[in-house]
Amino acid sequence: MLSVETPTTYYTATRKYDLNFPDLDQVIDTEVVVIGGGFSGVNTALELAERGVKDIVLLESRYLGFGGSGRNGGHVMAGIGHDLEKIRKSVGEEGLQAVFEISDLGATIIRERIAKYDIDSAWVLAFLRTLLHWKSPTVTPSRCGPQKV
Ligand SMILES: Cc1cc2nc3c(=O)[nH]c(=O)nc-3n(C[C@H](O)[C@H](O)[C@H](O)COP(=O)(O)OP(=O)(O)OC[C@H]3O[C@@H](n4cnc5c(N)ncnc54)[C@H](O)[C@@H]3O)c2cc1C
Repeated sequence: MLSVETPTTYYTATRKYDLNFPDLDQVIDTEVVVIGGGFSGVNTALELAERGVKDIVLLESRYLGFGGSGRNGGHVMAGIGHDLEKIRKSVGEEGLQAVFEISDLGATIIRERIAKYDIDSAWVLAFLRTLLHWKSPTVTPSRCGPQKV
């Protein structure tokens, strides 16, 4: 297992929690195995636990947050970082709306969990206005306007 200092990033250098957990060195029996201790994996495990699943094992090959989750900009933004037209073609207008709603919900869940679990985060409420997709006749400006999270 790599040291949490490798690679050294802003996040590993300023981490507030011990990210070392025991290696898996025996055969285990469990109800759910979640592979990958990034944002997706930790969130999946937590969501399952909150819904009453008792026996969950999270397997991470390096350390929690080793991937993109431990190296990103830390911005909690509602939105999609992909070509909206391609997504619309694939899932339709209603599907696109659903994707936006899920994205909004994700930001809300993060904010609620920071409060619920008393996470010592550097949460700052900010507003972002972007002109990125305003040229698109099918994207409403409200989607690109200030987003309160
Ligand atoms: C430079 C950068 C800046 C970004 N900025 C932002 C931002 O500001 N806001 C935002 O919302 N998003 C941002 N993102 C995107 C965001 O970081 C990713 O979408 C998110 O972290 C993905 O999380 P994940 O859990 O899916 O993947 P990861 O965080 O990559 O987690 C995957 C984990 O799985 C582990 N793993 C892989 N294979 C195995 C295996 N076989 N067995 C066990 N473990 C395994 C890896 O070690 C890793 O820890 C940014 C991304 C980058 C790269």
